[in-house]
Amino acid sequence: MAVSLFHGIVCCAIGFGIPLPAQARLRYAYLFTKGAALLLALGHLVRGLAFAFQSDVPAGFLEPTTQNLVFFALGTLALPGLTLGAVMMANARMVSDATYAAEHDHLTGAPSRRAFFAAAEREHARAVRHGSELGMLVLDVDYFKRINDTHGHAIGDGVLRDLVRQTRDTIRTVDYCARIGGEEFAVLLPDASLETALAVAERLRAALDRSLRAAPGLEVAYTVSIGAAMLAEGESVAGLLARADAALYAAKAGGRNRVVSAAIPWRRQHAAGRGAFG
Ligand code: GH3
Ligand code: MG
Ligand code: MG
Repeated sequence: MAVSLFHGIVCCAIGFGIPLPAQARLRYAYLFTKGAALLLALGHLVRGLAFAFQSDVPAGFLEPTTQNLVFFALGTLALPGLTLGAVMMANARMVSDATYAAEHDHLTGAPSRRAFFAAAEREHARAVRHGSELGMLVLDVDYFKRINDTHGHAIGDGVLRDLVRQTRDTIRTVDYCARIGGEEFAVLLPDASLETALAVAERLRAALDRSLRAAPGLEVAYTVSIGAAMLAEGESVAGLLARADAALYAAKAGGRNRVVSAAIPWRRQHAAGRGAFG
């Protein structure tokens, strides 16, 4: 009974002490360990009670009884079960950390280029299936090299972090902002019309035309240029990004700190023309 009480308490502490993580990819390993520990605790409860309510000690109680053999056999599963759970939890945590690192930019915490393309392909497939619209913005910090050269890379890094924070506060929750290059970011705008996309782009440009308190007594002003494009009929993600990129370069050439909307590809113009002339 004393041994069962001890093991029961330890197993309960493990079972109830292990938190249930929010990330779905960690949950199975944690639930397995919790389940194994709580099953063991239940086994010890049954064992303890079996002995507690045993009216008399069997004559040769040091001889193995069936009951003892069953408990002993089940007890041998405890260590492998809990060890397997621990290994599964450590493995799940490592895979989860590695996946997070691959899908996020370490400096700003924004999704990475790889995650952006995965999200863009998903949204592209959804837009094609439902015939909904999909907008994309590509933004680039103006004269960023000058900020680095004047104030140092640490201050430049601070500007990039500030840009991501401001962008997140400005765009809708359904929109997706990722770092696709050094000081280049892209924003996916699902279900946004051209007017909405341009309004978001202009709101973003204005929000990012700002002065950041980078260090005590040091204000660093920065601006961004933005290229905006809407998914055209039959266009791929790469095509959409290329047009947004071309618009970004037009914004740079036009003097920076501005939004330029991409040209509509000829196929769409053609379709629009056909529509207009019946
Ligand atoms: P433009 O207005 O034409 O975009 O000029 P620019 O100076 O912003 O463009 P350029 O491409 O010449 O410079 C980009 C700079 O961004 C160069 C590179 O050192 C810097 N950069 C890239 N990634 C990082 C980073 O993670 N941190 C910092 N601090 N700088 C970075
Ligand atoms: Mg730049
Ligand atoms: Mg650039």
